[in-house]
Amino acid sequence: MSFKAVDILGISMLIDYEEMFKQAGVEVELVANPCPVKGATEDEIIAAVGDADAVITQTTFQKFPRRVLASLSNVKLIMSMAVGYDYLDVDAATELGILTANVPDASTREVADHAMGLILACTRRIVHLNEVVKRGGWREMGDPYILGEIWPKLSVLEGQTLGIIGLGRIGRALVPRAKGFGLRIVANDPYIEPGIFREFGVEQVNLDQVLAQSDIISLHVPLTSETKRLLGLEQLKKMKPTACLINTARGAVVDHDALYTALTEGHIAMAAFDVTEPEPIPADSPLLKLDNYICTAHSAGLSPPAFAELQRRPGMEIIRFAKGEWPVGLIDERAKETYRKKWGQS
Ligand code: NAD
Repeated sequence: MSFKAVDILGISMLIDYEEMFKQAGVEVELVANPCPVKGATEDEIIAAVGDADAVITQTTFQKFPRRVLASLSNVKLIMSMAVGYDYLDVDAATELGILTANVPDASTREVADHAMGLILACTRRIVHLNEVVKRGGWREMGDPYILGEIWPKLSVLEGQTLGIIGLGRIGRALVPRAKGFGLRIVANDPYIEPGIFREFGVEQVNLDQVLAQSDIISLHVPLTSETKRLLGLEQLKKMKPTACLINTARGAVVDHDALYTALTEGHIAMAAFDVTEPEPIPADSPLLKLDNYICTAHSAGLSPPAFAELQRRPGMEIIRFAKGEWPVGLIDERAKETYRKKWGQS
């Protein structure tokens, strides 16, 4: 079967998909039709996709709500080159017989490492100390700011409680890393079997218990209508005043105005975010003026192997699809049935 794939991301400038298709012996016409990665309108996306059978995109930024999906009458596969798929209406795609796929495992280890790094950055105040030294602090032993403001806040991880919200791939990958530092771990995830908590040696608790018991909370949920602003002021006030909040998931999981209030009024001690709402964080965001807020510019998932895999996977999924196989990163298993009904194949 010969079909058309469109790259609306512009990623085919970096990787030779045509060579991959040739090597695999599949006939795919590849069209590069890049749209702005951020801010493309629905109509721009519809026009860029045109009559393609498959789309390479990144639905962490390019938006595929129901209206767009319903307008894509020939699309059979939407391939999102990322782990998260915040702006893809998966239910609508499934209803419409469209397969959706992501790269779920591309950067699990990187994000878990990064979360661990942010935990240490908070509990050992690494970034803050570095900034003080670079501003000329510690010229002599006994710098009053370091002695009075920073050293009293340093803590040892052993024996502290880490609360994980979302015990999926990344949350689970964080568990052995955190246990290596002697942390006790509690977790909340209403969508997984209780056996998984036991298997990972993690105590299963509800959201309020995570908030109340944890010295450090690390967020690992996808951004959905349910997790948007999961932590507002009410929830942040339930945390310990000494607690640190780590977010490598999505910025919008936390209400940023509430976060500012919590950090300045002492409801929590520190926040280390890789992700913000919006991205990039506005230059005049009051959070950027706080010593107890650190931010790492949505870099948690990156490493050369992770980036290579993110680029390679759309090509591999299109090859599978061209051979009549299901994508390995299929987001919604139910789509196999609706796809068969609509296209009568596979
Ligand atoms: P995953 O799907 O394997 O795990 C997510 C877990 O969250 C699942 O177990 C799910 O049951 C749970 N969950 C869903 N709703 C919940 C809720 N309301 N309360 C508690 N738990 C809930 O995903 P993953 O691979 O672990 O990735 C998690 C998220 O990390 C991604 O969706 C993505 O947004 C983010 N991410 C960020 C980066 C980065 O660079 N910062 C990179 C990769 C992934």
